[in-house]
Amino acid sequence: MAVTRTLSIIKPDATKRNLTGAINAKFEAAGLRIVAQKRLHLTKAQAGAFYAVHAERPFYDELCTFMASGPVVAQVLEGEDAVAKNREVMGATNPAQADEGTIRKEFALSIGENSVHGSDSEENAAIEIAFFFSGLEIVG
Ligand code: ADP
Ligand code: MG
Repeated sequence: MAVTRTLSIIKPDATKRNLTGAINAKFEAAGLRIVAQKRLHLTKAQAGAFYAVHAERPFYDELCTFMASGPVVAQVLEGEDAVAKNREVMGATNPAQADEGTIRKEFALSIGENSVHGSDSEENAAIEIAFFFSGLEIVG
């Protein structure tokens, strides 16, 4: 299995509860390395651009409002099969369906305020990483 990268976002519900370190500990325990990280407060327009693939979904407006409601921490995670590994550590979108020990099981408040974002494919990971980071900011 190749070492690859994925884009992670610690969402406003989690930064608000001061969970950045607790969530990062879960990534590191799973063998994912944080090779870039920054805290920023997205505008609603920036959140909308990031989630443009969901523009037709009924929860799009709610999602963009939530993602702009407080600080987020954008990160690049690196490791063996990083996209799939991170999705495993995150758990299911709906915390009620997430496995024990996952970030969403432990920390998510609801299907919307679910503490973390993770890319869903290597192709999207490359697009999402480029949305937040320049090559110079990623140090593996
Ligand atoms: P994931 O984040 O697990 O990849 P999706 O890509 O399907 O999930 O959805 C993106 C984000 O939109 C979710 O993480 C969640 O914050 C929000 N979301 C998804 N489904 C719903 C829903 N039914 N109601 C409200 N928000 C939702
Ligand atoms: Mg998704």
